[in-house]
Amino acid sequence: MKKSTGQYEKIFALFGHPVAHSVSPLMHNRAFEELGLNCCYLAFDVKTEDLDVAVKAIRALGLGGANITIPHKERVVQYLDEVEEQARLIGAVNTVINRDGCMVGYNTDAPGFLESLRCEAGFVPSGKGVVILGAGGAARAVAFALAFSGVKSLGIFNRNPSRAEELGKDISDLAVCKVETGDLNGIALRRALAKADLLVNATSVGMYPNVAESPLQDISHLRPGMLVCDLVYNPLKTRLLQEAEKRGCRTCSGLGMLVYQGALAFELWTGKRAPVAVMRQAAEEVLEK
Ligand code: NAP
Repeated sequence: MKKSTGQYEKIFALFGHPVAHSVSPLMHNRAFEELGLNCCYLAFDVKTEDLDVAVKAIRALGLGGANITIPHKERVVQYLDEVEEQARLIGAVNTVINRDGCMVGYNTDAPGFLESLRCEAGFVPSGKGVVILGAGGAARAVAFALAFSGVKSLGIFNRNPSRAEELGKDISDLAVCKVETGDLNGIALRRALAKADLLVNATSVGMYPNVAESPLQDISHLRPGMLVCDLVYNPLKTRLLQEAEKRGCRTCSGLGMLVYQGALAFELWTGKRAPVAVMRQAAEEVLEK
C-alpha cells in the first residue's frame, strides 16, 4: 500500500455494540504504523437494526474491510456475499474483506484461539480431552477449531444445556471426535473434567466488573498439569485462572486469542505479516487502563 498525504490509503472498521472500550483500534493502528502502512482502523457503534446498512457502507465507502464483534458475529453472515467454509460451519464471522466490492466473511477467532494455545502454552490438541464451558459465539469458534485439530473428546457444558446440545450436534455431524454435552456444574461436567487435558472458559462469567465470579463452582477436579484457558481477557487473571493456579494447573488468559485473531485479520486485509509483539503491547496498554 502506497503512502499518501492528506488521506488514508485504506480504512478498516469495527462494528459492534458497545465498542467504546475496544482494544482493537489501538492494536491495528499501531500495527499499521509499525509497517508504515497509510491505513486507519475506526470503531463504530452499530445497533442491530443498522447492521445491514453498516455492511453496505463497507462497499459504498470503499473501506478495506471490517471486524465484527458482539452482538453481530452471527447475524452479519446473512448480509455477506461469500462466507469462507470454516466461518460458515461455525455460523459466525468476525472479519470481513472488501474484495473488489464483494463482501467476504472469515472467522479468525477459531485459528486465533489455536495459535494462542500453541504459542502461549505449547498445547497440541491432537488426541486430547477437552472441556468447554459455554455455548455462545466464542464457544462455537473454539469447539470447531478444536474438533478440526483432532481432539479425542469434547465436552460442552452451558448454563442453558439446550444450547450446548445444539452445538454438540453440529460438532457430532462432523464425525471427528467424541462429543458430550450438559449443564454447568452438573455431575457430567465433573466426570468430564476428571479426564480432561484442557478446560476452556468460553462464558462471560468472571469478566469485569464481575471479577469475583467463576463459571466453575467445584474446582476439586482441576488437576496439576492440566491447562486451563479463560477467553475472558479483562481481567487478565480471572478468578478461575487464580484458582486453577492454586490447584497446580497451567493457565492461559484470553489476551493471546485477542491478539492472534487480530493479527490474522490484519494479514487477511494487508497480505503482510502482522507485527504480533506490537499488537500485544498495544492490547496490554488498553487493558492496563
Ligand atoms: P455470547 O455469545 O453472548 O455467549 C455468552 C456465554 O456465556 C453463553 O454460553 C452464556 O450461557 C454464558 N453466560 C453468560 N452469563 C452467564 C452466567 N451468569 N452464568 C453462566 N453462564 C453465563 O458471548 P461470546 O461472544 O461467546 O463471548 C463469551 C466470552 O468470551 C466473553 O467474555 C468475551 O469477551 C470472550 N471472548 C474473548 C475473545 C478473545 O479474543 N479472547 C474472543 C471472543 C470472545 P447461556 O447460553 O446460558 O446464556
